[in-house]
Amino acid sequence: MAKKAKMTWSGFSLQPRKEMPQGVWIQCPQCKETLFRKKVKENREVCLHCAYHFRIDAKTRISQLADEGSFEEFDAMLTTSDPLNFHFRGTTYAERAAQDREKTGSIEAIRTGRAFIRGRRVILAVMDPSYLMGSMGEVVGEKFCRAVDAAMEKNLPFICVSCSGGARMHEGVISVQQMAKTSAALARLDEAKGLFISVLSDPTTGGVSASFAMLGDVIIAEPKALIGFAGPRVIKQTINVDLPEGFQTSEFLLEHGFVDMIVDRRELRGEIARLIDYFGKGY
Ligand SMILES: [Zn+2]
Repeated sequence: MAKKAKMTWSGFSLQPRKEMPQGVWIQCPQCKETLFRKKVKENREVCLHCAYHFRIDAKTRISQLADEGSFEEFDAMLTTSDPLNFHFRGTTYAERAAQDREKTGSIEAIRTGRAFIRGRRVILAVMDPSYLMGSMGEVVGEKFCRAVDAAMEKNLPFICVSCSGGARMHEGVISVQQMAKTSAALARLDEAKGLFISVLSDPTTGGVSASFAMLGDVIIAEPKALIGFAGPRVIKQTINVDLPEGFQTSEFLLEHGFVDMIVDRRELRGEIARLIDYFGKGY
């Protein structure tokens, strides 16, 4: 049976095609080279030939960024109240969430906590694309805001790695409300002269791109990530113009001033540590 297209509000076609496939050997979707999976894993899930960045879950991302064993998770068991009692195509929201929980071991689409990055204390938030496409609902918003509060309270840098299909339509307007809620939390952090480094990975779209992901004091993107609010088809239908090639990639956004730098995943940890020191926030 053909896989159902994943539903999004923003009009992106987000298939799970870029996740690391299982097996000893894998094929790079970009350069088509056959790769030894273990070697790719050692290379931070980046292709050894063409530097294609595979999509990674929150657990893997945390293991790549945080000093070994330093991550202490906040609010790990916070779960949605399913405010709309939502169902779609014969499946309830609760059932879909339970499936992803079982498949991925993730309770929600974001993990937050405190950690060290190369010896610097940080508050870290990492979105999880393996859980309901990293979509933002009430729990993502709440965990994000609590993490921002922790960063303010302890005067620590706040680092967030986004990877999301946008607002979670299963929660209706409550998911959209999280855009304002997370943005307000970041405004308070800004007033308190806190540091927010936002890392955008593939994909950062919809309500997440239109709220906290683009509010970093420094915005870093991974190479060739899809970053944008609405999908090309939706934009074309709305404003009726042809869109330039590659207009929603990291490279295009860097050229047009929407992101500050593109950093290869293998350099990300060092670059974040360097920025923390540059802003005088290393403790
Ligand atoms: Zn490749």
